[in-house]
Amino acid sequence: MKINVLTLFPEMFTPLQVSLLGRGQEDGKWKLNLVNFRDFSTRPHASVDDTPYGGGAGMVLQIMPIKAALESLENKGKVIITAPQGKTFNEQMAQEWSKEENLTFICGHFEGFDQRVYDLADETVSIGDYVLTGGELPTMSMIDATVRLLPGILGNAMSAVEESFSDGLLEYPQYTRPADFEGQKVPDILLSGNHGNIAEWRHYQALKATYLHRPDMLEGRDLTKEEKHMLADIKAEIADSEN
Ligand code: SAH
Repeated sequence: MKINVLTLFPEMFTPLQVSLLGRGQEDGKWKLNLVNFRDFSTRPHASVDDTPYGGGAGMVLQIMPIKAALESLENKGKVIITAPQGKTFNEQMAQEWSKEENLTFICGHFEGFDQRVYDLADETVSIGDYVLTGGELPTMSMIDATVRLLPGILGNAMSAVEESFSDGLLEYPQYTRPADFEGQKVPDILLSGNHGNIAEWRHYQALKATYLHRPDMLEGRDLTKEEKHMLADIKAEIADSEN
């Protein structure tokens, strides 16, 4: 997969050179192409922004350098603009994007983009209901979430399958040595070696974590018969602990 990023601050992207994503690039599993769209400005001092029509604070990014930078790309693939008003990024989008050959992200800065820039993109995407100074951190988050799903990026192929959001539930609690830390014990069942029971316990715990922390995730879910029983037990367990 090759990912293009249009940004005024290519030097911000060093986190993608480290750890699993960095190794993935060295191994040729994916490639990052950073394009500074300031290089495509034809104005004095390579300006890329101007004051807003109608007045108001801040500077607005102009369409010309962004359009020229896009046109210079060999393969754009899906073009994604980062903006707080976009639809909220999630794991499902990461899964869809991870199947693409090419992706192109556009990072804003200052007050944001001239409205006509949005027409150059296929999707406008936000990483949450808060405002950052630029699209670089959102883009890095989305690239990380997408690229880690590519084959061979995570050491253990299973680790992407059994974790939060991948199956519509949050992850179950995980433990490692020691089995007893200052009196805080790892649940006995995990030490039992009974894989059937462990799988069932994990499913129950995933459902419980989701019910407690993200009940909205259960709203559209077709619960299996087993999950309905589990949920009843979870509610009873919580009611018990409150009494
Ligand atoms: N004036 C704009 C905010 C601009 S913030 C508004 O009120 O909506 C500057 C740039 O940071 C944006 O163009 C966008 O690229 C990026 N950005 C800020 N917050 C973001 C978020 N939550 N998700 C994605 N991109 C964001």
